[in-house]
Amino acid sequence: MESVQPRDELAARLMETPIATPFDYDEDGKQDGFLRLYHSRETNGYGYVPIPVISVKNGKGPTAFLVGGNHGNEYEGIVALMNLARDLEQASVQGRVIVLPSLNFPAVMAGTRSSPLDGSNLNRCFPGDAMGSPTHVIAHYVSSVLLPLADLVIDLHAGGRSSQFIPCALVREGRNEHETAKSARLADWFGAPISFVSKGKGGGGSLTLAGECARQAIPCLTAELGGGETLSQQGLKLAMDGVLRILSQCGILASTVPPTMTTTRWVKKGPDTRLHAHVAGIFEPRIELGEYVSPGRVAGLIHLPDFPMRKPEEVRFESSGYVLSRHVPALVGRGDELCTFVTDVIR
Ligand SMILES: [Zn+2]
Repeated sequence: MESVQPRDELAARLMETPIATPFDYDEDGKQDGFLRLYHSRETNGYGYVPIPVISVKNGKGPTAFLVGGNHGNEYEGIVALMNLARDLEQASVQGRVIVLPSLNFPAVMAGTRSSPLDGSNLNRCFPGDAMGSPTHVIAHYVSSVLLPLADLVIDLHAGGRSSQFIPCALVREGRNEHETAKSARLADWFGAPISFVSKGKGGGGSLTLAGECARQAIPCLTAELGGGETLSQQGLKLAMDGVLRILSQCGILASTVPPTMTTTRWVKKGPDTRLHAHVAGIFEPRIELGEYVSPGRVAGLIHLPDFPMRKPEEVRFESSGYVLSRHVPALVGRGDELCTFVTDVIR
């Protein structure tokens, strides 16, 4: 893999965005600074939002673009990428690594999924809009400035406030089998306990960073590493080891011995892989993450504090699979997702 990016093209794209870049991505060396997203707000009319960015470049070679904090309350990726950015030395890199550990920085500092500046969920804003609200401007910068530089993208997530995941990796279906296979290879190297190919129909569809990568035919891995707004050691270790394995396997980390490869279990998502609450109440989960469940198995009970003498609602699985995530906290509203599960080994 070798990226060639004519400089005038990059300069033209930098002209389109209102975000100021602190250094030249084409410069060799280890550079760090803050993107400046100028944003006029009630408390500061002419200030900017700082978004941390680190670039480590050494000669020719592929570019990896590493993202944490796409959602602000998902912490394993943010910490893993700050650790990695501090440790990366120019001499050990062949090519380029661009790291944005807290991509939606306002959301990270607020501890929220979406931005406090405009209420927008960055991973539902792609490809973004240079003239839009702050979150759309960030998405546009990524789509128009950073993705054209990238040969591969790693986007690290977790379950945030509303769910807890078993560490897993997902890749989007490409426009053809060859493109899908290139992303799937990243998941093989990443080595999460569970990996699957997403058709991009659930969640954010094509408005996600992974969706934008699929449009631009850039291999992309999305990982879910934990959740519940805490920081899991298992997820953090996987993020750090998995990213190093990918950088090493694709030749960017030339002189670093990567952590031992682990084998991922490939599964697929069926057409209906979510259980929802049909009443509001207190959810008592009866399942563990990663557990294999069969049809009829009770996923949990929903207790009804308004009607203490009524029996709790039973929520059951209608098909079999591995439990991928479950809802946190216990209080659920009608329509909330309680659990996702995945089925069948495919590779
Ligand atoms: Zn997320």
